[in-house]
Amino acid sequence: MLARQCNSDAQTFRPTVLVHGGAGAIRDENVANARLGVKRAASKGYEALQQTGSVLDAVEEAVRLMEENPMFNAGYGSVLTWEGDVEMDASIMHGAHLEAGCVSLARDIMHPISLARLIMAKTPHLYMAGEGAMRLAAAQGFNILPKGALVTEKALKHLEMFKTNSNRTQGGQLYGPPGTVGAVAIDACGNVAAATSTGGLMGKLPGRIGDSSVLGAGTYADNESGAISATGHGETIMRFNVASRILTLVQHGNQTMQQATEHVLQQMTKRFNETAGAIAIDHRGQLGIYFTSRRMSWAYQQANELHSGIDAGEDVVEIVGEAPNV
Ligand code: ASP
Repeated sequence: MLARQCNSDAQTFRPTVLVHGGAGAIRDENVANARLGVKRAASKGYEALQQTGSVLDAVEEAVRLMEENPMFNAGYGSVLTWEGDVEMDASIMHGAHLEAGCVSLARDIMHPISLARLIMAKTPHLYMAGEGAMRLAAAQGFNILPKGALVTEKALKHLEMFKTNSNRTQGGQLYGPPGTVGAVAIDACGNVAAATSTGGLMGKLPGRIGDSSVLGAGTYADNESGAISATGHGETIMRFNVASRILTLVQHGNQTMQQATEHVLQQMTKRFNETAGAIAIDHRGQLGIYFTSRRMSWAYQQANELHSGIDAGEDVVEIVGEAPNV
């Protein structure tokens, strides 16, 4: 049984679904669509939480919507390897018993996040990659798309530009157009979950795996501390163990989630001169949203409030349809 035991007395948390659509140099002309994409995903996740009461459903549904959206670097619209292919990483985790599923080098499926969940739910394993993972997906009825179906014109154009650009490290463009996606959620009983899905870094070598599918780096969830999804330079996020560090500060360092998120990302950027962002919910339901990159699109829904932002310090609030308690 995944969910924490929860009777009506224990329902003390405000159900929330918080998503991001990637850290980096989001171009001005993409700001409106990125915001729309994350707002829709947050609402979709919140709707799933209301309908099924499952934080796993909430984060999976939110991420699935963004995987379908070519605006983001996940599923359809993923960035391309140096050889022009899509290779995706994803992970999902539930904070009650620390169950998790991770997948790397996923190809030709729209929803790597659902494959990660399937690995969690239906195999004795936690992490699968490449050929074996794709055979599992096919055997379990995933729609295997024709080769190249996830490759967009935009991704091809960006790879071309990347290959001809001699200075690939400038202006946050090192890893191409931003757009890794992630979600974290908490239910009324304090169960948390996290999910992250990505096409990785543009122009990466085939076989490269980033932080998004690595627990403690790009994704983590523990009901005793909180849930995190990170985005940014994966090699650095893994080296700095970003998700674990943030949660440790919350659990043992007496910091709020916002303080811990800011502290760890600032430290990472200071030490490595690479940028990242993260969204987080702690075990009390407090949020952390921060990035050291130029921008990061994010949104969350809590009851009838839909918050969103892209630039530092921004928090636009809209009132959406009255939401009943979860
Ligand atoms: N963290 C992702 C990776 O390195 C990329 C990103 O978040 O933009 O694969």
